[in-house]
Amino acid sequence: MPDCIFCKIIRKDIPTELIYESEGFIVIKDISPQAPVHLLIITKEHIPSVDELAKRHQQLVGDMVLQARELAKIHSLQNGYKLVVNCGPDGGQVVPHLHIHMLGGKKLSGLT
Ligand code: AMP
Ligand code: ZN
Repeated sequence: MPDCIFCKIIRKDIPTELIYESEGFIVIKDISPQAPVHLLIITKEHIPSVDELAKRHQQLVGDMVLQARELAKIHSLQNGYKLVVNCGPDGGQVVPHLHIHMLGGKKLSGLT
């Protein structure tokens, strides 16, 4: 997916500060943070959205959520945080490459 912004980041065509990297995913800071801590946990494989997830991705998605727990400790989010996965146009997804938003560092509310 040469035109996908997250694929470009993963290929290192666009320089980014990596917060964490594993075999299956990377973690970066969101370029337009909506909270004091706003990280993106991004699959290395170009999976367009939750809709395209397959059984073989089960472990990967589980590992991404577990990593969020570790990131919360590192970023002192002991008071809580929010994990968001937008899916498709009505779900507010702008970048069609699977990612989890991790938001924290202030009181967040609401689902929309
Ligand atoms: P979504 O609406 O769930 O697809 O979210 C896409 C997110 O990617 C938005 O919060 C953007 O601010 C973020 N984003 C877009 N381009 C970059 C980039 N080059 N580096 C970091 N975050 C980005
Ligand atoms: Zn991609």
